Amino acid sequence: MIRDVDVAVIGGGSAGLAAAVMAARQGARVMLLERQGFLGGMGTASLVHTFCGLYLLKSGPGAELANLGFPSEMAERMIATTGLGPIRMGRLDVLPQHPADFVRIADELVKAESSLVVQWHTEVIGVRKNEGRWEIDWSCRGSLGKTLSTVIIDASGDAVTAPWIGAAHEVAPRLQRPAYVFGIQGVRSFPDERRLQLAGMLVEGIRSGILSKAALGLSFRPSGRPGELFGTLDLAGEESGSIYDPLDPVGLSALEAEGRRVASGVVACLREMDPEWRAAFISQWPARAGIRESRRWVGRACLTGAQIEAGTRFADEIGLATWPMELRENTRGPKWRFPVEDRPTGIPFDCLRIPDHDNFFVAGRCISVDHEAQASIRVMGTCFATGQAAGVAAAIKAGGGDPTPSLARRIPGHGNFPEPSEIGIA
Ligand SMILES: Cc1cc2nc3c(=O)[nH]c(=O)nc-3n(C[C@H](O)[C@H](O)[C@H](O)COP(=O)(O)OP(=O)(O)OC[C@H]3O[C@@H](n4cnc5c(N)ncnc54)[C@H](O)[C@@H]3O)c2cc1C
Repeated sequence: MIRDVDVAVIGGGSAGLAAAVMAARQGARVMLLERQGFLGGMGTASLVHTFCGLYLLKSGPGAELANLGFPSEMAERMIATTGLGPIRMGRLDVLPQHPADFVRIADELVKAESSLVVQWHTEVIGVRKNEGRWEIDWSCRGSLGKTLSTVIIDASGDAVTAPWIGAAHEVAPRLQRPAYVFGIQGVRSFPDERRLQLAGMLVEGIRSGILSKAALGLSFRPSGRPGELFGTLDLAGEESGSIYDPLDPVGLSALEAEGRRVASGVVACLREMDPEWRAAFISQWPARAGIRESRRWVGRACLTGAQIEAGTRFADEIGLATWPMELRENTRGPKWRFPVEDRPTGIPFDCLRIPDHDNFFVAGRCISVDHEAQASIRVMGTCFATGQAAGVAAAIKAGGGDPTPSLARRIPGHGNFPEPSEIGIA
């Protein structure tokens, strides 16, 4: 089976969803290839349940959207579905999202685009260039197929196509820790003031030998639905003694089993220790463990942690990164690095482009940034923004245009971004 399209998007997470919808809205014939049976990536398959990076950092009241177009549309749709608005945490505004709602919103978004074909259950297994166009090999439950496309967007999260096309990529020597997010139901009440008490119970469980030390990496958050919580368990840091490799199937398999083992132990322990948890049970495992960082592209430009810290702006920026760098490298919890004066940082278009190939774009958590900047741009609000830009650029390129000069005008609301002068940058 061979299909021919203008734009092929590999991976339907936050970035791939935005890219595919936005490319289709520009009139391109688009195919979105996704190995799961639903869209949303980490925000659905791994049960990550808040949209970060949608809003500007600020100390005053009120949440202010940072990127118009697709990111703002997703925020509006999620608020309309859950009835929950942004929550202020210090200078950060985060939007609670429910993975079950995200899946349905994504279904509706792709269904509305007549020039967009979604192929679920489709794992891309090879890509090569032939006379300027791309040949994409994929596999669906034993059937092999091929898609021909003018432009590719790699939104796979893991830069899966980089080794296949011989493009530069890297994996940081010390990666952000992975985590295992799972659903819990049946907890009678979960008031904020009891968090410390629960942590104390876990410490007691570890001291008495019932729980492993890994239980210390666990935190809970209400899902917004009655009686439902999400547990997030940070796994495998440098302290674990084992080398963590998110691209190694044996290591990944061990991670999945470890997540389920520790989570089950904790819930069983809390059932015994806390009357509020007596009827608690694990209601949902993720389809896969949450991977914060793996292989990244080395593109035409590389956004650095120092540039995020300075709130640097660029002439060719396609969106704003507003989430501070949230470094989760060890068991001591996240280390935060905020930009000076809470400034947003521009994301250069060249971080979405790779050397040698004008008809290839990248989006999402694997764009061309350094390890520290990845700790900011990986959040879903920012992935929507880079996906949107890649989608628009790909459609322009597929139509025979040059996305460089015209891109800014085609990204919805781009002209509404605060200019460097308006936010106090000389
Ligand atoms: C534990 C944890 C907590 C987090 N907390 C937050 C948070 O609170 N807020 C926030 O905004 N962000 C958070 N993040 C980060 C955020 O969830 C991810 O960085 C973001 O979702 C990445 O989006 P993406 O589209 O780039 O990649 P992904 O979501 O990883 O999507 C990539 C998609 O590509 C598909 N794919 C990959 N390879 C192939 C292939 N060969 N063929 C077909 N399909 C393929 C995958 O199945 C997947 O659906 C967290 C991450 C983790 C792990």
